[in-house]
Amino acid sequence: MILKNEARKYIKTTCGDGWLSFVDKVYQKLPTGTIITQVYQKYGALRFDIEPENIDFETFLDTIEQISEKTCEICGEIGDEKIVNGFVETLCDNKTCMEKCLYLDTL
Ligand SMILES: [Zn+2]
Repeated sequence: MILKNEARKYIKTTCGDGWLSFVDKVYQKLPTGTIITQVYQKYGALRFDIEPENIDFETFLDTIEQISEKTCEICGEIGDEKIVNGFVETLCDNKTCMEKCLYLDTL
């Protein structure tokens, strides 16, 4: 089970600040009895794994995933798919975000 603060910290250090508001939203809406087992970035999207199955909440997570695919991981502005060091990342066109993303990649 991953707590909100751990999820925030993990996304902040592996992606950036741009998606933290999504993490907050997901934890706000987390139904009683449902736990988050994993949170991660995959193919430029923010993903959550939960237990047990919950169709309604998974639909909400799909929506979050789709929005994250259009939101810069670093700054939260509108972004799209970019390839950084061979990984799919979602970034805006701001050069600073690309540089920060490259830096996070090397940590
Ligand atoms: Zn950005």
